[in-house]
Parts: sequence; C-alpha cells; structure tokens
Amino acid sequence: MRAMVLLGPGQLVCQELPRPDPRDEEIVLKVGAALTCGTDLKAFLRGHPKWPPPTRFGHEYAGTVAAVGATVTGLREGDEVMLVPTAPCGSCFYCQRHQENLCTSLMDTYALGGYAEYLTIPARVLRTNLFAKPRHLSFAVAALLEPLSCVVFGLRQVTVRPDDIAVVIGAGAIGLLHVMVLRALGVERVYVIARNSQRAGTARQVGAFGIIPSAAEEAQEAVLQVTAGRGADLVVECTAQVRVWEQAVLLARPGGQVILFGGCPPGTLAAFPTARLHYEQVRIVSPFHFTPPAVRQAYELLCADTLPTAQLLSGTYPLVRLPEVLQRLQRGEGIKYVMIP
Ligand SMILES: [Zn+2]
Ligand SMILES: [Zn+2]
Repeated sequence: MRAMVLLGPGQLVCQELPRPDPRDEEIVLKVGAALTCGTDLKAFLRGHPKWPPPTRFGHEYAGTVAAVGATVTGLREGDEVMLVPTAPCGSCFYCQRHQENLCTSLMDTYALGGYAEYLTIPARVLRTNLFAKPRHLSFAVAALLEPLSCVVFGLRQVTVRPDDIAVVIGAGAIGLLHVMVLRALGVERVYVIARNSQRAGTARQVGAFGIIPSAAEEAQEAVLQVTAGRGADLVVECTAQVRVWEQAVLLARPGGQVILFGGCPPGTLAAFPTARLHYEQVRIVSPFHFTPPAVRQAYELLCADTLPTAQLLSGTYPLVRLPEVLQRLQRGEGIKYVMIP
C-alpha cells in the first residue's frame, strides 16, 4: 500500500509499505479521505516533537473497516466509520477525574498515519472514540470530527449565551469552526478578526456577523465600538501566537470569558494585567485536546449536518500530491484540503 512518510523537515515521500494486519483487538481502516491540518504543515516544515522521523502522519481521517481483529465485536468489514485518533486509558489519575484530555498515556496509542491507504486503529479508540459514519456524510466531512472535537471541548469550558457578543481571532479552520459552533449554539453576533480578505469572506459565509479587518493588536477600538464600550462577552483566540494571547485578554468585557485555543511554542511566556483577572473578573481558559463527551457532542453535531462544513474544504487531491498541497497551505492558500489515497 502507499503511505506518505515524513523523513525530516521538508522531506516528504510516498512509500510502498506492507498493508497492516490487525492484532486481535484492533481493526485496519481503509482511509476514505484525510484532511490537512495546521499541525501537519508545522510537522512538515519544522518537525514535530512527538512524531520523530521517519514517521507517518495525518490525524484527521475517516474510512471503511478493511479487516477486523479476532476479538473485536460490533464492527464488520465494510462498515463506514469516523473517529478521532486518540482515546484515554480510563484508569489513570486524570481519567478517573474525568480529565481524560490529560490522560498520561493519551499519545501512546495515537493512530497517526491517515495519509496512507490503510492504517491500524487501536482497541482504545475502538472502545471510546469511533462511531458509525452516516451515509449522508462524506468521508471528508466525517474527517472533521477531530478538529471539531477540540473546538467543542473548548466551548464546553465556558458558558455560552445566545445574546453574547463573541469575537473570534483568526479565520483559519479552527476559527471558522468556532464561528460555526457558536452559531449552532444560537449566538448571532460572532465577529471575526481576520487580516486575510479571502478568509474573511469565508468567515462571512460560515455565519460571522461582522469582520474586523485588522491585526488583533489594532482591533480593540473596533471591539469596543460593537459592544457599547464594554468589550466582548466571549473572546476566542485561534492563532497560537503569544502576542495574540495577550491581546485576547484585553478584548473581553469585565466578567467576560476568554478561550486561548491555539497552543504556543513550548517555553513561551505570556503576560496579562492582573487587574483584568482580579478586579475585572475576566475568566481565561486554555483548552487542550478533548474528552470523550466532547467527541460525542462533535459527532452528533456533524451527523445533524447543519454546519456549513463544505466551506472549510478547499479542494480534493490524490494522496501523492500532499507535498504540493502543504506548500499551498504554507502560502496561505485555502483552509483544508481533502487527500484521497
Ligand atoms: Zn488537526
Ligand atoms: Zn488515562
């Protein structure tokens, strides 16, 4: 079978590898579609601390069960499924406290390798985070389960009211997914801070109430203007830049909430005025990954098929063209691409 293998920064090749066989408690998935993600681009350009080369990658995918291990129940060859590539152990300190996103062995059984014809899905994922794909969803849309689970998990950390004025910083895939989910939760006034005019257009198409066409640093005036001088009820940072984290905290109203969504490089520090947190009671959360209840909620949202997900998918390519597609993303072209093995 064909698989894309990352040999080092900038070195991505298509290799012919043996098709995997499932162990007793596993399945082998035939990938129907895999989606590109900002994390993949980072791994391609600079490497990824948790994915030492040579490595297969691709973590947003859906497909068809191609082979079933001897002890697997409830799944058959030919079943169309959607999943997230990790699952918690269920028994460690964090899992027992329902903080499964911090499970100490979360990354040990990461089903990485969606950029291939086949890959093995471990028992843990089968037990917790794999679902039947409804026929009406395409494999590409079903593959949005992973990023959508992250977004849903983040929004579960805050209180969302329909009359909130929300400000989403960044109009990449994650920012756009936040707009969609906030709209689905009944929030009408979702503003998006976006510099890239093409992405701003997409933000409008997926339901943004207004666009603030500037850098986050310059947006404070505009946010005050649309919130009667108070600041936003909810601010969602989706850029993974320290200076935007710092800015996001300044855009919330007293008593407002801030989601710092984008993970910044290891070792970085951010600074906030203490008065914002104390006297002005701004609440900050910074969600990482997801828990099984968030995955299930994301699954139900996708199955309802009411989110304008098609707007996120910028084109469909055969798997072997992945290097070229990643270069497009690097140039800021498109949001997510669909790779078909
Ligand atoms: Zn991703
Ligand atoms: Zn655990």
